[in-house]
Amino acid sequence: MAAPLMKSVSGIRGIVGSSFTPDLIVKTGEAFAAWLKRGKVVVGRDSRPTGETVARCLESVLAMAGCDVVDVGIVPTPTVQLMVEELSAAGGIVISASHNPIEWNAFKLIGPSGSFLNQKEIQSFFKLMELPGKYAPWDRMGALSKHEGAGDVHIGRVLAVVDAGAIRRRSFTVALDSVNGAGSVITPALLERLGCRVAPVHCTMDGAFPRGAEPVPENLSDLANVVMRNSCHVGFAQDPDADRLAIVDENGRPIGEENTIALVTRHLLGKEVGRVVVNLSTTKAVEEIARKYGAPFTRTKVGEINVADEMRRRGARIGGEGNGGVISPEVHLGRDSLAGIVYVLEMMAETGKSVSELVAELPQFHMIKGKSKIGKLPRGDAFKAMLKEKFKGERISDIDGIRIDFTRHPEFGGGWVHLRASNTEPIFRIIAEGGDEKQAKKIYTHFVSMMRLMR
Ligand code: MG
Repeated sequence: MAAPLMKSVSGIRGIVGSSFTPDLIVKTGEAFAAWLKRGKVVVGRDSRPTGETVARCLESVLAMAGCDVVDVGIVPTPTVQLMVEELSAAGGIVISASHNPIEWNAFKLIGPSGSFLNQKEIQSFFKLMELPGKYAPWDRMGALSKHEGAGDVHIGRVLAVVDAGAIRRRSFTVALDSVNGAGSVITPALLERLGCRVAPVHCTMDGAFPRGAEPVPENLSDLANVVMRNSCHVGFAQDPDADRLAIVDENGRPIGEENTIALVTRHLLGKEVGRVVVNLSTTKAVEEIARKYGAPFTRTKVGEINVADEMRRRGARIGGEGNGGVISPEVHLGRDSLAGIVYVLEMMAETGKSVSELVAELPQFHMIKGKSKIGKLPRGDAFKAMLKEKFKGERISDIDGIRIDFTRHPEFGGGWVHLRASNTEPIFRIIAEGGDEKQAKKIYTHFVSMMRLMR
């Protein structure tokens, strides 16, 4: 079977050498230059071993198509987004397949606002990929340059949104697992600026991912051990492009990715109430927190740009995704693990509470995230229609797959399920959440067997 090439609002992802080829790099460069109508382009990458080779090819194409290229090196995805804004560039490209395995690489495309291209924009970009490229004459090619200071710009931005003095006074000991990815250098530098003692785990920026790339609990045992060994106040884990953040408490227990956005939402609403925007797959804990503070609450389709666009439109206070994606408009409208880290440290400093104490105060839910090899909803719209009929009277959203919030169901009440095709992998996601593990399991198994019957 041919290797898959995934094209969506999350960018273009493929396996290097089979679906991610020089031909694809050239087409991407040509189309992006045309989409931006030339201008300055910021290019950054994660630490994957294929990154530099891909970058050189892409940057040459962009320059030959008339764009000035600023290479910011190996940096987190949010750093590239920030630099587009900072340098008033026409756009940017991140070369990173985020949490996909090492053989993958990808392009994430950033528009002039510093946010990813939205659905409409990416569709117009994909159309341009079908057309022949247009190049500049030899004397009007763009310039290639490097910018070494992107990390400092990013650190400066996140330090400016918290009480850094309060954090410094606590002299926290912090373990950090950057999965040898793009967060490996910038994050310890940030923590040191906040007076933290850093116990590094997998912070060698060589891209050899020593654990599963996603910062999910089963991948965080090394971090948990270091937290325990060094009596750390907290452990932080990132994904390879450092847009997602997971947390391990002072007892070495991963608190679950969903609780990252729940903690930060609670912290920020406690300072000032404003709208909260999260995607359809995010824990109900965030919804409960918003309700408690009287904050307006909106859910969007999955995909960072869908959340960020809605946040911009509605002037949101805080938003994000349950996979550890914190989006703070105070910093930038993109998922940013560094922003998440400074808010959590500020919360610890200001409350004087431990991470486990703070987590115990959150609304408690249990989530099961599963995947199926089917790439789309079995029988598509017919399945959706059947579910709508069967669960009539429940709260149903069909803007992205289908999500059902059970309000009256005798067994599932208070829980929910979300069934949707992934944007980034050729799989189908099944997410169920309940008030406890038993209820979450009941909901999950019910829908898995229902999907099996429909195949
Ligand atoms: Mg990522």
